[in-house]
Amino acid sequence: MAVTFLGTSSGGGPSESRNCSSLVCDMLADQSLWMVDCAEGTARQFSLQPHYNRPHVRINKISKIFITHMHADHIMGIVPLLRNILFPPLSAPRASHQSPPKTIEIYGPAGLRLFVRQVMKMTLTRTSDTYVVHELLTTEDSITPCDLPPASDKALSNMHTLQSNILHPSEIAGLDIRASPDGFWRAITQGKGVKSPIIVDAGAILHRDPCIGYTFTEVKHPSRKLVILGDTYDPSPLIPLCVNPSPSLLVHEATDSCISRHADSMGKLSRRSAKEVHDKALGKGHSIPEMAGEFAKLIGARDLVLNHIGGRFPAPRNPQDYDRLKIMQDIEQRASVAWGSGKNATAAWDFFRVYIPYHPRQDTANSGSGFENVGRAPSHDDETGRPQPPSSHNPSTDANRPDKRQSRQTDVSHSNTNQKRRKR
Ligand SMILES: [Zn+2]
Ligand SMILES: [Zn+2]
Repeated sequence: MAVTFLGTSSGGGPSESRNCSSLVCDMLADQSLWMVDCAEGTARQFSLQPHYNRPHVRINKISKIFITHMHADHIMGIVPLLRNILFPPLSAPRASHQSPPKTIEIYGPAGLRLFVRQVMKMTLTRTSDTYVVHELLTTEDSITPCDLPPASDKALSNMHTLQSNILHPSEIAGLDIRASPDGFWRAITQGKGVKSPIIVDAGAILHRDPCIGYTFTEVKHPSRKLVILGDTYDPSPLIPLCVNPSPSLLVHEATDSCISRHADSMGKLSRRSAKEVHDKALGKGHSIPEMAGEFAKLIGARDLVLNHIGGRFPAPRNPQDYDRLKIMQDIEQRASVAWGSGKNATAAWDFFRVYIPYHPRQDTANSGSGFENVGRAPSHDDETGRPQPPSSHNPSTDANRPDKRQSRQTDVSHSNTNQKRRKR
């Protein structure tokens, strides 16, 4: 089970170092991928992955997409992605060597079906494969119909109809999934994991507009669970889905952050007071690292990764990018202190990959975190010549750093990129 971050920027992006929100969960027996959010440029991120032999995740392996909310930095890549992975119209019957027909399933809030449908129509997108949008509806949300075009129009393409109730030619009628009386969307779908079925539940979290958090849970013991939140200033309504079992991994946004003076060599980011940053983040419906840490503590998360990082905190371009590294370490430290688990949170960067092991070790300070081989590409990846994000730090170099030795003795499982960055 692994999560790969394809975009880690807040809505101010994309920036020079980060694409906007998207990640993929790699946990299914058939090696298909489940994506959460799909910002503009997500399709391209697959081809930009640093890799040596083959990329960790392939775009044509995506089978389901889960959308947290309708803000542009989370959905504008959906149609380009569909254009990329749905087989184009066939001029002849599908040959035996070609992949069989498939349907991409998309889950998300009210409005998503109409958005995808109309953009597909207006961009004159034609495919032979199909897609379906299942909407997670509250009691107040109205249904977007899935009507077939009138028989009289069937001879014509309905690509051009802007009637919102008419299906796109590649669209299958989706489910209208109402929240249960307790407000959750339980077991909206499931998949076959390697050793256990995986159930997906969802629930509303608080953002300035409607937003959803998703949980992915292995049914069989020992169960691993991912909690992946959308933008939020308070995810506490999701708590009942986040416990029993506690998550193996929590992905929580940290859009803004106060920065310590000692970490801010340029002297620009540390000017704002903690209260100023906190109030501004909450005012926009977002979180600061301390809030992510507090929520991780509240639900007993085994690991914590921060994403949706604000534009003023660019990702380090290489292992020597000390100014940026120090800022990210400061952000991580703030979340880690609030988390209080003795472990370290990680501020994600594009292409960061975190593995969640099958048999988590005991939850004691300085013991295993689940971050094994985090974001680690083989060292020969550096031969691509691409400026490497921190994921490609040279382990041997790090191991030889005098300030690393103590850390490696006491915290073996964190002898990875995350720790190496922190110690710089
Ligand atoms: Zn956002
Ligand atoms: Zn948002």
